[in-house]
Amino acid sequence: MHSPHDPYVRVRGAREHNLQGVDVDIPRDVLAVFTGVSGSGKSSLAFGTIYAEAQRRYFESVAPYARRLIHQVGAPKVGEITGLPPAVSLQQRRSAPTSRSSVGTVTNLSNSLRMLYSRAGDYPPGAERLDSDSFSPNTAAGACPECHGLGRVHRTTEESLVPDPSLSIREGAIAAWPGAWQGKNLRDILDALGYDVDRPWRELPAEQRQWILFTDEQPVVTVHPVRDADRIQRPYQGTYMSARRYVMKTFADSRSATLRARAERFLTAAPCPACGGSRLRPEALAVTFAGRTIAELAALPLVELARTLDGGASETARVLTGDLRARIAPVLELGLGYLSLDRATPTLSAGELQRLRLATQLRSGLFGVVYVLDEPSAGLHPADTEALLRVLARLKESGNSVFVVEHHLDVMRGADWLVDVGPRAGEHGGRVLHSGPVAELASVADSATARFLFDDAPAARREVRAARGRLTVGPVTRHNLREVTAAFPLGVFTAVTGVSGSGKSTLIGEITEELPGVGRLVSVDQRPIGRTPRSNLATYTGLFDVVRKVFAATDEARARGYGAGRFSFNVAGGRCETCQGEGFVSVELLFLPSTYAPCPECGGARYNAETLQVRYRGRSVAEVLDLTVEAAADFFADTPAVARSLATLLDVGLGYLRLGQPATELSGGEAQRIKLASELQRGRRGHTLYLLDEPTTGLHPADVEVLMRQLHGLVDAGNTVIVVEHDMSVVAGADWVIDLGPGGGDAGGRIVAAGTPAEVAATADSATAPYLARVMP
Ligand code: ADP
Ligand code: ADP
Ligand code: ZN
Ligand code: ZN
Repeated sequence: MHSPHDPYVRVRGAREHNLQGVDVDIPRDVLAVFTGVSGSGKSSLAFGTIYAEAQRRYFESVAPYARRLIHQVGAPKVGEITGLPPAVSLQQRRSAPTSRSSVGTVTNLSNSLRMLYSRAGDYPPGAERLDSDSFSPNTAAGACPECHGLGRVHRTTEESLVPDPSLSIREGAIAAWPGAWQGKNLRDILDALGYDVDRPWRELPAEQRQWILFTDEQPVVTVHPVRDADRIQRPYQGTYMSARRYVMKTFADSRSATLRARAERFLTAAPCPACGGSRLRPEALAVTFAGRTIAELAALPLVELARTLDGGASETARVLTGDLRARIAPVLELGLGYLSLDRATPTLSAGELQRLRLATQLRSGLFGVVYVLDEPSAGLHPADTEALLRVLARLKESGNSVFVVEHHLDVMRGADWLVDVGPRAGEHGGRVLHSGPVAELASVADSATARFLFDDAPAARREVRAARGRLTVGPVTRHNLREVTAAFPLGVFTAVTGVSGSGKSTLIGEITEELPGVGRLVSVDQRPIGRTPRSNLATYTGLFDVVRKVFAATDEARARGYGAGRFSFNVAGGRCETCQGEGFVSVELLFLPSTYAPCPECGGARYNAETLQVRYRGRSVAEVLDLTVEAAADFFADTPAVARSLATLLDVGLGYLRLGQPATELSGGEAQRIKLASELQRGRRGHTLYLLDEPTTGLHPADVEVLMRQLHGLVDAGNTVIVVEHDMSVVAGADWVIDLGPGGGDAGGRIVAAGTPAEVAATADSATAPYLARVMP
């Protein structure tokens, strides 16, 4: 029986995904790091089991009626968990945050800043004090009345409404008008009003064109329609509406998304002239603090904002600015001082967003919870990793447990407890190899982690390759880059380094196919290969096309007259119609993102019973989709087109994935390696430029080795590879390094050093140099 004084979270019989009946005990009130190669089951244990179970208990307690739905979606497959505190996940959700969400709202700093302006701002003489809502563009009290708090206004221009002025009105000059009857009606009204609807638009007098497009008048006239010769229509009273009025009204009021989208095509967006894009009403913008409006403060990088908020005249101001600075401090500490409060969250990277949430939690006052984090070091320069560890330690010291999935060796070394999952991926993993103090992992022979954690031998020295030309990018002036010109050597492996916010992504974002010397440009990122269970490994790589032909060529399929299309789950015919071939049905949950449950008709097979009766070498098409890449490689050994795809997937270490594994179940690292495999499969030689932004995110050092072998193989075949990278072992193995900095935001945006890894490691004022020097052979 579990005692409340038992200091452990005890998991028994965890079977989520690939977990093989895992039993594990993890102490509460520690920093526990979950490690293991990609696909070994770390996330399945930390998020899929521990966090999911805490969530389930929470929802059951607050909303008992949700029980049935949770049951349907499936509670985590686990025998029992005892000693589990409530859990908070800081994992970066991929769902799109609303466009109104910003750094200020995510951190709650906007609220405090508004309070400061409300209570301690400088008001114009005679002005009434405003409450803090009046400083929010998201409230009726604060929003600029011109743009309703959007900061932009949508306008119509003659060019946008009449794209082809050589046409007459009858020929459709006013493209923005509605189609069909309504459009003809407007034309007939103009005709009745005495306008010439048969002259080319551009020949109409300017004041007529102005009135037709922009008038606010809505005259009513009697129209005598002469539309169809064989149909006599009665005269009727028609009301005119200008093209602008029609477009604005449709854009603002229409219930139809299609009509709104059509209307939007005729609008151009410009900063709101009333508020200058600040989204606030004039009364709020008249209030200042330290000589600035709230909009101006929200646009400052947080480092500068903290400096600007040094005190203030009144006691109230001192208390409020003190609180603000205390809450900004952890954000600065986590290396995010270059962000401003008004920065929209969709423009942040997943790593930046998670670290913002982490910084915010420090002041939440919560204790007794378990925080579950997914690779908080993602996007973090080694110089900032120590700060991350300090922040995690503080969460723990306030009485919480901190469970982190991590690949960064320094974070592992800083842990109190290590849970190593493995030994390999998929069905070759799913076991806990070690759960205990870090040092004790050294004696675990099977562990891929131990090999990296305790081996300090420097990497083998590699010959630096010679470039076969240069790609010049710039001068770039964008975000924090000011007239930066960079030369990327061609035919070699280049690493772009620098602290978070220094401008790495901005710089490589300027590399396009239009530049001379680029040829073909391929960006291998970690975005999903598809957003629904309809896309999977087999469809993405194209190997499923061949598999379907193989099935159509069987005697059974021919006897029944089934073509290759019959074996597709994306078109009607062979698929299960209940789930339309998804194998899953979507379940909507109140307060939770919608999730998928297995199809009640086909049980996840995706096909109807007749299709499944056709077998190739004893397996139905559904059973083939259920094979792992490894098993499929044997099964299809003598079908060259399939075997080739499978071989490249094995090469990138994805042998454990099932062919039909839906895109929605793949991690970012898996998606990236699938893309890479599809590239390798093309077998093209030379002259492709591969761009990768932090390709090692989510990868264990053992996976990084595999990935680097592939990327260097591409370079050896004559291609160019450019990566943005924080992993110094990757940087040390590059041919060329471009280091940006020295800091983030306005403190960065320059090329601090460029050269071979050895040259950059010896540069004096580079933040990267000391960390690179440590791993240089
Ligand atoms: P890690 O976090 O160690 O990279 P995961 O826990 O994400 O590994 O994955 C472990 C195994 O479970 C892998 O084989 C992966 O493909 C599989 N898997 C992950 N998510 C799902 C899912 N939603 N449904 C089924 N299998 C999954
Ligand atoms: P890195 O890739 O080195 O982390 P970035 O290129 O993402 O750096 O950012 C460089 C600077 O540009 C930072 O000050 C960042 O805040 C700013 N920045 C990046 N993306 C945007 C954006 N979409 N809108 C406004 N500023 C941005
Ligand atoms: Zn405005
Ligand atoms: Zn079905």
